[in-house]
Amino acid sequence: MRTWKWMFTAALLVSVSAAAQQSSDSQPVAQPAATAAAQPVQPSQPASATTAVPAPTPSALPQPTTMDQVVDRFIDREHGLMKALATRTPVVETYLQNLSADPQLGPVPSEDHYFLGRMDMGETVDRKDYLKDQDKGMETRLMGGFHKLFKVQYQPMGFSWMVYADRSDFDREHYEFHYIRREFLGDIRCLVFDVTPKKTAGRGRFLGRVWVEDQDYNIVRLNGTYAPAPRNSYFFHMDSWRLNLIPGYWVPAYIYSEEGDFSAGVKNKLAFKAQTRIWGYDLKKGDKDDELTQIRVDAVKDESATTQDASPLQAEREWQQQAEDNVIERLTRAGLLAPEGDVDRILMTVVNNLEVTNNIDLPRPVRTRVLLTAPLETFSVGNTIVISRGLIDVLPDEASLASVLSHELAHIVLGHNLGSKYAFNDRMLFSDDSTYANLGFKHIPEEETAADKKAVDLLKNSPYAQKLDNVGLFLKALQARSTQLNALLTTHLGNSLGENGSITRLNALSTQGPALDNTKLDQVAALPLGGRVKINPWDDKAEMVKTAPVAITSVRDKMPFEVTPFFPRLSRYGTAVAPTAAPTTASNSPSGN
Ligand SMILES: [Zn+2]
Repeated sequence: MRTWKWMFTAALLVSVSAAAQQSSDSQPVAQPAATAAAQPVQPSQPASATTAVPAPTPSALPQPTTMDQVVDRFIDREHGLMKALATRTPVVETYLQNLSADPQLGPVPSEDHYFLGRMDMGETVDRKDYLKDQDKGMETRLMGGFHKLFKVQYQPMGFSWMVYADRSDFDREHYEFHYIRREFLGDIRCLVFDVTPKKTAGRGRFLGRVWVEDQDYNIVRLNGTYAPAPRNSYFFHMDSWRLNLIPGYWVPAYIYSEEGDFSAGVKNKLAFKAQTRIWGYDLKKGDKDDELTQIRVDAVKDESATTQDASPLQAEREWQQQAEDNVIERLTRAGLLAPEGDVDRILMTVVNNLEVTNNIDLPRPVRTRVLLTAPLETFSVGNTIVISRGLIDVLPDEASLASVLSHELAHIVLGHNLGSKYAFNDRMLFSDDSTYANLGFKHIPEEETAADKKAVDLLKNSPYAQKLDNVGLFLKALQARSTQLNALLTTHLGNSLGENGSITRLNALSTQGPALDNTKLDQVAALPLGGRVKINPWDDKAEMVKTAPVAITSVRDKMPFEVTPFFPRLSRYGTAVAPTAAPTTASNSPSGN
């Protein structure tokens, strides 16, 4: 039992230890072996682990009349949530920026790190990394430079830990609960409680505050840290948000972490901010065995309007379509692509603007899809243009969105088709976490150069021709941060926007427009991450964020490419405002505010 607790603790924290003592395998991650005894099972919980969507709360329960009863109820609901999600393996992404102090701009990124994996919500909460082949694994990643004597090791497991307050012992035996007040989070009236571990509760216990909605008494937000920390180690602080995406349950969705103090006289060993996003709860378990034993009968579709045989060229196009469909389906199943939706309508509007003004008439229609991840990347698979959530977020206006889409459209127009090898279905049989090792859509440098040249031609003929100054400004802003944001610029499926710290994409436009000037409040060259696209963590649907414009009052408000805290507007399942009608003109698309 002791060992088991320690394993969790080790996986949780940012451990700081003398470099000389640290070996790369000294940080065990949570092991599934020793945990069987620790699962509190609440008799009143619905037996929902086997259903596709967890069953809702029994609504017949009497409303609590005292705060003590409320505490009992939300402890019970927390265990119910753990049970309901135990069979889930969502995607978990952590993007972290280390910070240094800039006298003018405040804390700015000095370097960054990226983790992507699948999280097993079973008894131990474990992670499987999508990037291990490229990045040597999350557990062994060492980062230095904060302090001469120390190496700092981020445990990605730690960032996803605060999906629950305490996976094993969230009860009155281990914790004190103090009611604080009522408070609204978005549309949700909450009861706020401070939670402190009892003296005898042991190390690594939750210390902080929880917000509990006042209908079913689910925890909707947790804010705090873990304590006490073992010697030479400390836990970082987290703000963890849940969304009511299925009836009766609030599902962990966003975790913000931040450390560091930049006030005068403080000596920092560590300063960072990090966003963790969780999605893909409704994905099938992505292990290889499942897929190889699964008998797949693809729907036979016969779209031929005629009785003629396919000509060689038609056969080639069919073949490419098959490869494209295979890849798009596989990426969706791996939790990397959003299903077609709201955001695609905006992307397609921009693509159409480029096509119409350039008289582009392709034998197969161009489609778009949103890559759910943060790194800035675009690629095309056959006639499908894929653009990452992170890239849509940081683009300041529609012209810059058009510019990154135009590069991919140029590849399509120039016939730079990739990936017809994926028309063979055996090539789609791999585990989700090896997606990046099995799929790739990088072009040779000659095709990149040709696509850039063509893209500029397309843009100059388009409605965006007069707004290319903004594109130039965006490219300058990207260039200015490119060495600090290496992880954000590291692509995993397509070509990178630059190489060796130098931005090469659409180079011809990079000198366009005014000089980059951080001190000008009205010059917004790039936006923070997270401001455009929001993902439904249950079904992976992407939609545009609807935010009211907030005035920038100091240069520190601009935060280009930066990580910010989460503040989702909470609402109950089924009551969220439905997305408004799809925009019919480009003027409704992201145009900066
Ligand atoms: Zn390209």
